[in-house]
Amino acid sequence: MSQTPPPRRARAEIDLGALRANVRALRARVAPHSQVMAVVKADAYGHGAVPCARAALEAGATWLGTATPHEALALRAAGIADARILCWLWTPGDPWDQGIEADLDMTVSGTWALDEVREAARRVGRPARIQLKADTGLGRNGCQPADWPQLVGEALRAQEEGLLRVTGLWSHFACADEPGHPSITRQLELFHTMLEHAEKAGVAPEVRHIANSPATLTLPETHFDLVRPGIAMYGVSPSPELGTPADFGLRPVMSLAASVALVKNAPAGHGVSYGHHYVTEHETTLGLVPLGYADGVPRHASGRGPVLVGGKVRTVAGRVAMDQFVVDLGGDVVEPGTEALLFGPGDRGEPTAQDWADAADTIAYEIVTRIGARVPRVYIDESPDARDH
Ligand SMILES: *Cc1c(COP(=O)(O)O)cnc(C)c1O
Repeated sequence: MSQTPPPRRARAEIDLGALRANVRALRARVAPHSQVMAVVKADAYGHGAVPCARAALEAGATWLGTATPHEALALRAAGIADARILCWLWTPGDPWDQGIEADLDMTVSGTWALDEVREAARRVGRPARIQLKADTGLGRNGCQPADWPQLVGEALRAQEEGLLRVTGLWSHFACADEPGHPSITRQLELFHTMLEHAEKAGVAPEVRHIANSPATLTLPETHFDLVRPGIAMYGVSPSPELGTPADFGLRPVMSLAASVALVKNAPAGHGVSYGHHYVTEHETTLGLVPLGYADGVPRHASGRGPVLVGGKVRTVAGRVAMDQFVVDLGGDVVEPGTEALLFGPGDRGEPTAQDWADAADTIAYEIVTRIGARVPRVYIDESPDARDH
């Protein structure tokens, strides 16, 4: 049987050299005693968890962060044996036993989780490593200040019984990407208070942490013992308001490209794609781009998304369909197979993930993270010299 050749249709190029350089740029922003946790949840924001985790560790990250325990266990199963891995989104019935056996650091935000950890530690016969998460104002996961003394007290009792060790205390910002937002100092003050309570009660955490990408980039007073950048490591700015990636010495890691599948002449007045929301004004040429919302191209960017084809940035004509969309080439003739570049670092005149976010009324996080499983990730290393620094 002959092997199926790799698809020519589309690819997401992942520049691991850029990722390593980004991790180094982030490390340079934090004090030498602060560690960097590379957040690789959601398949490394769509970039591929295992290759990105390995590259981040090569560049000096010492911790990995995931949302779910299954994501964390998958990193261990892939052979990432030594790095510390913290995961923070647990649901009752999740695999605490395996988490202990895999040496995960497991976040506890409430007493139900502490109950499950204690039972798992008894079954496994080994203490669990847990980190207590405080809700200092995000209002999502984490323990409310009013419930903190009880959670800390119960964790310390379980620690004395040898069932667990509290390795960290941490929290998460709501508005770190909005410079000067009053919630930032409020959360930071409350974090200090909740840390002080836990430490006075007897917790001796290895790491205290609260900084995501925007806080890592702009709020040094939030760095503590460890920072948890996600989006910045992938070379995307957390918010255009804060600056461009280049302003922070970061370079986008993902480029999304397709091969034009068909080019044809169309007469004036021809409707394009479902619903005919685009109608050609003049006789023109249309190019078919074989990527759609099943691949993560947002349907919301219908009529707006930018694509570099044949040296010019074109706009999605009409609706983005499940598997394909059309650009009006305005009479230009390009060969089928020509590259259509949806986004990348921007140096070739191509749009960026932020441009797609603007076109789809969303954030660049969502653009890169939702690139679908049908798009092969192709790993490249455009800055190999970064390895040697
Ligand atoms: C996703 C996440 C991060 C990383 O956030 P970025 O804004 O991408 O840097 C850090 N900590 C927690 C708890 C997260 O869920």
